[in-house]
Amino acid sequence: MVERQIKARGISDALVIDAMLRVPRHLFVEEALQNQAYTDFPLPIGAGQTISQPYMVALMTEALLLAGGEKVLEIGTGSGYQAAVLSRIASQVFTIERNPVLARKARAILDSNGFSNISIRVGDGTLGWREEAPFDAIMVTAGAPAVVEEIQRQLAINGRLVIPVGSFKEQMLKRIIRLGAAEFREENLLSCRFVPLRGRHGWQDTPLR
Ligand code: SAM
Repeated sequence: MVERQIKARGISDALVIDAMLRVPRHLFVEEALQNQAYTDFPLPIGAGQTISQPYMVALMTEALLLAGGEKVLEIGTGSGYQAAVLSRIASQVFTIERNPVLARKARAILDSNGFSNISIRVGDGTLGWREEAPFDAIMVTAGAPAVVEEIQRQLAINGRLVIPVGSFKEQMLKRIIRLGAAEFREENLLSCRFVPLRGRHGWQDTPLR
């Protein structure tokens, strides 16, 4: 997976490659899909949600420009795989999931596999995690209708936010760097397709499946 899907497509950050090698993806995939855990696709994780394609996990992690030792927030815990990859680079990972069933499953997998620097909260990630802000890096793993200002405000100075923004069906993956108290630089990275970010500053909430 790492050779053919990650390195061959240009991911070169040694910390990201090492983290991808150290986190066994099959742990985060349902038993019936385990033979597909290392394939080049997102996979269903229940509740209409997905674990992202390995390449997308690597690309978004690289886009955070981590040097090691940071405090990172992820919004959209899902299976817990992305948080696990981040936890092998950052010193502390905070992750928010709106679906309590997915959050519980992720917690159990992370705990039983020694991922001890990850805190999970069940709730609306579009509000961020104010008590723990500021963060050196924030990653949103669901598609937002617009850049979420509340989340942007929880970045440290020089902090990086990676977030897919666009329509329900297609988004642009953006990186936003906080240059000063009210100064942000925005870059477009690539077009992508994520499940919707629901919540107060996202798409309208729907009942959980
Ligand atoms: N990062 C995940 C992984 O490694 O498996 C994949 C995330 S999945 C593509 C998107 C997740 O975002 C879903 O689990 C969904 O329930 C969650 N989500 C959507 N809106 C949210 C919100 N406002 N707050 C927290 N989680 C949210």
